[in-house]
Amino acid sequence: MRSADLADWIGHAADLVAADADRLSRLDADIGDGDHGHNLDRGFRAAVGALPGDDAPPGKVLIAAGRAIVSKTGGASGPLYGTALRRAGKALGDAADVDAAALGTALRAALDGVQELGKAERGDKTMVDALAPAADAYDAALADGSDLAGCVRAAADAAAKGAEETVPMQARKGRASYLGARSVGHLDPGAASTALILSALADVAGEG
Ligand code: ADP
Ligand code: MG
Repeated sequence: MRSADLADWIGHAADLVAADADRLSRLDADIGDGDHGHNLDRGFRAAVGALPGDDAPPGKVLIAAGRAIVSKTGGASGPLYGTALRRAGKALGDAADVDAAALGTALRAALDGVQELGKAERGDKTMVDALAPAADAYDAALADGSDLAGCVRAAADAAAKGAEETVPMQARKGRASYLGARSVGHLDPGAASTALILSALADVAGEG
């Protein structure tokens, strides 16, 4: 993948988030304050507006998007998604081309950043429950010899499954944790948005 592909990803993710903003906010209304979809919509719009030209390396595309998301997305998820993108961008460095191995390293760096900042583990009913299985599935696909598109598709599928698996969990981090046992039986909105954003990456990688 090159810079333009990563810019396409941010643009496509912004479109999917905009289309699903009401659904994501409704999920957040069930166990939070009902702002998640519209928070992210604002952040991703800002990210699209902040994208550098295609002569910037792919890492810089993600860093610029991450900065915009931190500054424009409210709530807990803004700093978490912003950190994820900036860490991924830093992991890519100044290389002009992103191969399957480099993208896997970036995905892992994003997960590490989210966990350092938010201190959530798997099972806490957060975006980590989508992102961690995605990073693992990516690595497994890579080890099996899949190409970049195959690895990203495996990651996106694992994120979707991981998000569904948050339904029976009790939230232990973020606003939903205030509900205690009443958080059980609901899909975590941040896990749902992570699955959506990774499905956007799989769509873009599949076109290449
Ligand atoms: P807020 O809860 O501040 O209103 P959002 O509604 O935008 O923020 O985002 C809520 C989502 O953020 C949750 O569904 C969860 O996935 C994620 N989240 C919250 N706290 C954490 C955390 N400590 N670590 C990882 N993800 C978190
Ligand atoms: Mg919220």
